[in-house]
Amino acid sequence: MSQNKLTDRFGRTVNYVRLSVTDRCDFRCVYCMAEDMTFLPRQQVLTLEEIARVARSFVDLGTEKIRLTGGEPMVRKDILELVKEIGTYGLRDFAMTTNGSQLATMAEPLRKAGMHRLNISLDSLDPEKFRNITRTGKLSQVLDGIDAAREAGFRGIKINTVVMKGRNDEEVPELVEFARKKQVDITFIEEMPLGEISEHDRGLALCTSEEVRDIIRKHHELVPATEDSGGPARYYRMEDSETRVGFISPHSHNFCSTCNRVRVTVEGRLLLCLGNEHSVDLRRVLRGNPVTDDKLRETIINAMDLKPERHHFSANGDVQILRFMNMTGG
Ligand code: SAM
Ligand code: SF4
Repeated sequence: MSQNKLTDRFGRTVNYVRLSVTDRCDFRCVYCMAEDMTFLPRQQVLTLEEIARVARSFVDLGTEKIRLTGGEPMVRKDILELVKEIGTYGLRDFAMTTNGSQLATMAEPLRKAGMHRLNISLDSLDPEKFRNITRTGKLSQVLDGIDAAREAGFRGIKINTVVMKGRNDEEVPELVEFARKKQVDITFIEEMPLGEISEHDRGLALCTSEEVRDIIRKHHELVPATEDSGGPARYYRMEDSETRVGFISPHSHNFCSTCNRVRVTVEGRLLLCLGNEHSVDLRRVLRGNPVTDDKLRETIINAMDLKPERHHFSANGDVQILRFMNMTGG
C-alpha cells in the first residue's frame, strides 16, 4: 500500500473514497429523490474505465478503503467488471451500499469479484410501508437479497435504516430484532436535508438518534462499543448478541473533526464534504488532452486544500444543499 499523500488543512488524512457509479435507481425513496427525477445524460456520466482510473489514482495516493454507491450501483450495466477491476487493487476494505433489490442473484458474483462488505438499505419490514417509502420497491426481493448476501460470505453486512417519525419509527424494535436474527449490524440514520422534496416535511419527520436509542433501550441495554468505527456512526453492543447497533446523527452529533473521506459523483465531481458544495471537476482532467495520471493525482492532492472544516445541517429540514443524495453518493 502506498504512503498516504492526502492530508487537508486541518490535519485530517483522507484514506476513504466513496465512488458513485450511477445517479439512476430502481427505487424512488421519499427522502432521497423526487418522484419524477430527471437523470443525467450518458455523456455526462463517467465511463467505467474513467471510474476505475479515478479509483486507481486514489489508491496510488494511499486510499485504503473504497465504497461504491449511487443511485443504485447494481443498475449500472457491467458493474461487475468495475468491481473485478477495483478488486485487484489490494484494498484493505472494499464495500458497496445497495438497496438490495438485485442481491438475490448478484451477491455471490460480487463476493467472488473481490467485494468485502455490503451495506443494505432497509427501512421497513412491512411490505406496504416498504412500498410507500421506496415508492417502487418490493420488500420480498430485498429480504431474499439479504439472505443471499449472508450465504455469499461477506466479511460484514450492515443494514441502513433512515428513521422518519410517523412512518417507520414504530418499527425500530422489530428492525433491531431482524438484525439480531440475521446476525448483521444495523445503523439508524437521521434524515439529511439533501435536495428539495415536497413529499414530507423533513423538519417534522426528523427522528433523532437520541429518540431512536430511547426506543431501543426499552428492549435492550445498549453499551457503547469500545472499537473505533473510523466513520460517522457511533456503535453500541447488546449483551446477548454479536449485532452492533449504530447511529449516524448529522444533526445531533458532529463527526467532522475525524472525517477521513471524500466522494466522487458519477459526473466526476470530487466532493470534499457531504454537507458543503466544495468540489473539483475530475472529469475535465480525465477527458483533457493529453490525459495523464500524474495530472489526475496532482488535481486530487490539491483538492484537499478545499476540504471544509465541518458541515452545517439545520434540524428544521431547510435545504442548504441542492444535490439529491443519489447525486452525491450516500
Ligand atoms: N441505492 C443505494 C441504497 O439505497 O443503499 C445506495 C445509495 S443511497 C443514496 C445510500 C444511503 O443514503 C442509503 O442508506 C439511504 O437510505 C441514504 N439516504 C438517502 N437519502 C438520504 C437523506 N436525505 N438523509 C439520510 N440518508 C439518506
Ligand atoms: Fe435509490 Fe438508494 Fe436513493 Fe433509495 S436511497 S432512491 S434506493 S439511491
